[in-house]
Amino acid sequence: MNLSEKDLNNLTNLEKGYEGELLFDKWVEALSGDWLILNDLLLESNNTEFQIDSLWISPETIYQFEVKNYDGDFYIEGDKWFSQSGKEIKNPINQLERSESLLRRLLQDFGVKTPIKSFVCFVNPEFHLYQAPSNLPIIFPTQFSRFMKKLSMSPPTIQKGYVKLAEKLVAAHIKESQYKRVYEYRFEDLRKGVTCTRCNSFLINLKVDVFICKNCGEAERVKPAILRNVEEFTLLFPKRNITTSAIHEWCNGLKTKRTIRRILLENYTLIGNRKNSYFIKNPK
Ligand SMILES: [Zn+2]
Repeated sequence: MNLSEKDLNNLTNLEKGYEGELLFDKWVEALSGDWLILNDLLLESNNTEFQIDSLWISPETIYQFEVKNYDGDFYIEGDKWFSQSGKEIKNPINQLERSESLLRRLLQDFGVKTPIKSFVCFVNPEFHLYQAPSNLPIIFPTQFSRFMKKLSMSPPTIQKGYVKLAEKLVAAHIKESQYKRVYEYRFEDLRKGVTCTRCNSFLINLKVDVFICKNCGEAERVKPAILRNVEEFTLLFPKRNITTSAIHEWCNGLKTKRTIRRILLENYTLIGNRKNSYFIKNPK
């Protein structure tokens, strides 16, 4: 569907943030030792919501990481951060300090006084920050492997109390933020069709049993492509029944209802009588 510029920006940022977290996870694989690691925590302290991308718990230190997937050139002037084009961005250090102080308060409520060390991690290798003072709590992509080596050299000994603490934090995790942005959409308003798995283009040609992307040439067999669209449909419209007609329309009629029904019959379970029949996922 056509998104407003604001929604498009928001969603693009969310997607970028998510990709950043995946990059961060890749780095963390190199860490050795029994760390208690909690990712993507949404907590509340002092009636204020705050988010932690990654929290590593050890008896000596609790590490808090804010993951940023910025790419391109940025610079700092005083307390302010700018992108190369001169647009001011939120100062990530302020954000980090804010969540650290809220975290400290929360830990005090749990009776924990372990010192906290916080870092902003820039995970994108294309990121560069000009005029960065060396005392900022930042880990640049080129520093990460050394940072991990250092931590791996003194792995923590996890005591029961710290497992308890991790459990408490998980229990305190808020599942639905009150600030969560809900994107409204209706089946009728969404563009129908099969998209390319590589470039997301809707420009798809059908050649016998294969969909070919007119934009990038990527090929995908019809069956997995249709099943991918059924998954998409279920994710977007969990309350709608999976029917042959619905999937036929969702795929913009690229294959006949007969083919769609056959694929659904092979992979899903048919419920109901002829007129009102629909499909559900096969029980595992
Ligand atoms: Zn493509």
